[in-house]
Amino acid sequence: MRIILMGPPGAGKGTQAELLIKHYKIPHISTGDMFRAAIKEQTPLGMKAKEYMDSGALVPDEVTIGIVADRLAQADCYNGFLLDGFPRTAAQADALAKILSDLNMGLDGVINIETDDATLLERLTGRRVCKQCGATFHTVFNPPRDQGVCDKCGDELYQRSDDTLETAQNRLKVYNDQTEPLIAYYSEQGLLKRTEGDQEIEQVFRNILDVLEYQ
Ligand SMILES: [Zn+2]
Repeated sequence: MRIILMGPPGAGKGTQAELLIKHYKIPHISTGDMFRAAIKEQTPLGMKAKEYMDSGALVPDEVTIGIVADRLAQADCYNGFLLDGFPRTAAQADALAKILSDLNMGLDGVINIETDDATLLERLTGRRVCKQCGATFHTVFNPPRDQGVCDKCGDELYQRSDDTLETAQNRLKVYNDQTEPLIAYYSEQGLLKRTEGDQEIEQVFRNILDVLEYQ
């Protein structure tokens, strides 16, 4: 099964990725992991990526695409893979199509986990962290026994600055702006498989299997 998995921050993409790679026994290919591996192995592309990352710059497309091409050519991808974090743009999607065609492979589906913004914002802003021991809670999914107080050590809980509403709204906007063209791209090719993310983890997973196998 050759899959691209997409979903906004807070939609549970990481959890579904884990379930899918176990179910299909395929490698989980995330651009972040690939960069780290290429750098560790000191491949020419890895060294190039490191230069950009060290200077705080975005890794240019040609480097990212090269790393993806190298990775997908490895033997463990022969029977399938789950791509996560790539492609991010229509230009990268074109490059991926070329890579796969060179490898005589095709995509089985592009899964988009859809969740409404209100639910995502609730999830993204609900995290509370203990000032003293670092234990994490969630106002909706894992609330402390007493509001604002750590279950473990009794100290005060706070909201990290990257979990605030403004930051969360910004992350969602960046994500939506970035993926809109991709969704259109894969929709035109009949590869886009939408799935409702606002359900139990197990139900979302079953729906993903359903759309992959039968749609
Ligand atoms: Zn604590």
